[in-house]
Amino acid sequence: MNVLVLNCGSSSVKFQIIETDEQLIEQDSDRRLASGIIERIGGQALITFQAEGHPKERRAEPLRDHRAAVDAILRWIISRSSNINNITSLSDIHAVGHRVVHGGEHFQKSARVNREVIEGIEECIDLAPLHNPANLKGIRAATELLGEGVPQAVVFDTSFHSTMPPSSYLYGIPYQLYRRYKIRRYGFHGTSHRYIAYRYRKLRNLEREQTNIITLHLGNGCSACAVLQGQSFDTSMGFTPLEGLIMGTRSGNIDPSLIEFLSAKSGMTIAEIDTLLNKQSGLFGLSGLTNDMRELLDEEAENQDRRATLAIDIFCQRVQQYIGGYMAEMGGTDAIAFSGGIGQNSPEVRRRICQGLGAIGIELDDEKNNHLNPADSADIGKDGSRVKVYMIPTNEELLIARDTFRVVADLPRQW
Ligand code: AMP
Repeated sequence: MNVLVLNCGSSSVKFQIIETDEQLIEQDSDRRLASGIIERIGGQALITFQAEGHPKERRAEPLRDHRAAVDAILRWIISRSSNINNITSLSDIHAVGHRVVHGGEHFQKSARVNREVIEGIEECIDLAPLHNPANLKGIRAATELLGEGVPQAVVFDTSFHSTMPPSSYLYGIPYQLYRRYKIRRYGFHGTSHRYIAYRYRKLRNLEREQTNIITLHLGNGCSACAVLQGQSFDTSMGFTPLEGLIMGTRSGNIDPSLIEFLSAKSGMTIAEIDTLLNKQSGLFGLSGLTNDMRELLDEEAENQDRRATLAIDIFCQRVQQYIGGYMAEMGGTDAIAFSGGIGQNSPEVRRRICQGLGAIGIELDDEKNNHLNPADSADIGKDGSRVKVYMIPTNEELLIARDTFRVVADLPRQW
């Protein structure tokens, strides 16, 4: 089955074409045939397309809306010049899988798109006013351009965390606010945490119920997840993706009282403070330089930049807090796993996070940590480490494609 995986943002569409089926999943040999991104939809859009094994194609083209963007993607996919194996017409696209940011309390697993599912996603717009409408545009565009006959599935960022108990998902605020407005912690990056936990389980040949691991998705957005007996027990993002760890430009946890304080002192509006916390904080705000961890590490090494060091240290300390906190909540863990752009690519950040964690059984092997292939999972803990340490590359698109195949084939979801 050739699955088109679509990830629609407010002004962008990312896609992959992945060939998958039951046997390919079993052999772990399902594969990406092509990928790409269209940015700046609504104006002169920037298009990057790439078939596997071929160079990237880049061009600019005016694209009015998401429908025009999905149309451009489909036209490229079936064109002869795209060089994609085995795809020459729209009938070679067998299903579409959409990443949807918010499934609220409504969706606990991936679902096949129908009227009721679309209404469910619409009901969650309140909770994700920027993201869910874009995801819906992607679903509508695919329906219009491919026809009702091509099945579509939705895979939610939130649904893996639907197993969190109330002790993890409730805030310490009046309970009626949860009842009335559904204010609670939902968590995000669920597809990534689920995939990392799944790879770990496969690496160690465990049953799902035996899977106890703390997964660390450290990219531009960052979150940690306590996976207990194969289920999300707690996670660091909350009502929105702003809560928890320090991220590229997001503040992570702060004292909520500083919003009132800052507003009184600076005259900023609530909306401006929200932008400050989401777009001008985190590594970027602390360092005053960049949201890119690679550049901060370079600044530190080459120029001994004090604020670059400060930003990296605060980032790492916050991750340590979650590892320790989750170990306490879970009654210990069997493993931790690093993933995401930072977690996969930075031996230095992994080293700094693990420094001093010997006291709670986490010991990194420097040699293994420094010599790994970022594309392959690796055990990077010391031989005798009580808690195993892994680097596991995430692959949300692959999981979306697999879920789409299972939903469409009416097979039970596994992970
Ligand atoms: P992601 O959102 O998972 O794609 O991660 C993107 C982030 O990964 C970038 O903003 C960088 O901060 C970080 N990153 C990528 N490569 C490296 C590297 N070699 N060292 C440190 N950070 C990196």
